[in-house]
Amino acid sequence: MRAALYEPENTQPIAHQRVQTHTEESGVYERLEALIESIWPDNGKVEAIGMASPGPLDPYTGYILKTPNISEWVNFPVGPKLSEHFHVPAFLDNDANLAALGEWKFGAGRGHHHVLYLTISTGVGGGVITYDRLLQGYHGLATELGHTIVDPDGPPCSCGFAGHLEAFSSGPAIVKYVLQELEAGAKSEMVRDESLTARVIADAAIHGDALAISAYRRAGEYLGIAVANFLAAFDPSIVIFGGGVSQVGSLLFDSFEASLKKRVFHPRYLEGLKIEMAALGDDAGLLGALALAQISIKA
Ligand SMILES: [Zn+2]
Repeated sequence: MRAALYEPENTQPIAHQRVQTHTEESGVYERLEALIESIWPDNGKVEAIGMASPGPLDPYTGYILKTPNISEWVNFPVGPKLSEHFHVPAFLDNDANLAALGEWKFGAGRGHHHVLYLTISTGVGGGVITYDRLLQGYHGLATELGHTIVDPDGPPCSCGFAGHLEAFSSGPAIVKYVLQELEAGAKSEMVRDESLTARVIADAAIHGDALAISAYRRAGEYLGIAVANFLAAFDPSIVIFGGGVSQVGSLLFDSFEASLKKRVFHPRYLEGLKIEMAALGDDAGLLGALALAQISIKA
């Protein structure tokens, strides 16, 4: 967990601290509270708290519905608890939505009014800015883009449903595909054990391993199918990619772009469309939380 104290409109924090979350132990909320206290200004005025959290959550009430990694947070009122303890309004949304908001306000999406953000790493997360507003939806559950269906007969997703984008294009999905192909007898320099990661597969692909190359091509192919759907739904002027898996460059993006071009239902969607890498790196969540707090207290 990281906490930072900002002045309005300045993206350089005045104070910044981090602690281990220790999700396997109880007391996660107490550690969060102590972390915020450690950067709280002695006599300065704090206007609001913004928080990027794993979801699913309800941004309108500040409740975490249930989050896979923190078992004690089920219907957990983290927003109301922070607000009561620190006597300021507290606003939250999930980390992918806030990375999208951060990139729009401070990063690669600056100047764009319609932004699609995707993070490809252990999971696949998404966020959308439309008419300069973060799209949150009726329940606050909009743009769970990793859990959209790209093949109803596809492999199981981490969420339990079948054929979601995350089940094809996330790091673990790429690893799982390679393991299955190795088991089925595919020829490769890679070995079938726990040391196999998306990074190891990327290195093998760079050295010409055909199975490794096909694993990333497949991930890019399905990513293209998904983004063709997202263009039809949101019609952005920029698509921003964050997350570790998206750092592999043409290995993923050549097949992604070919797949997208083949599937987008009208070429007009691609006119002037920018496809760029995220600019904020590890700070996307903090800066997105800053942007959310700024926007929410003005609203
Ligand atoms: Zn899913």
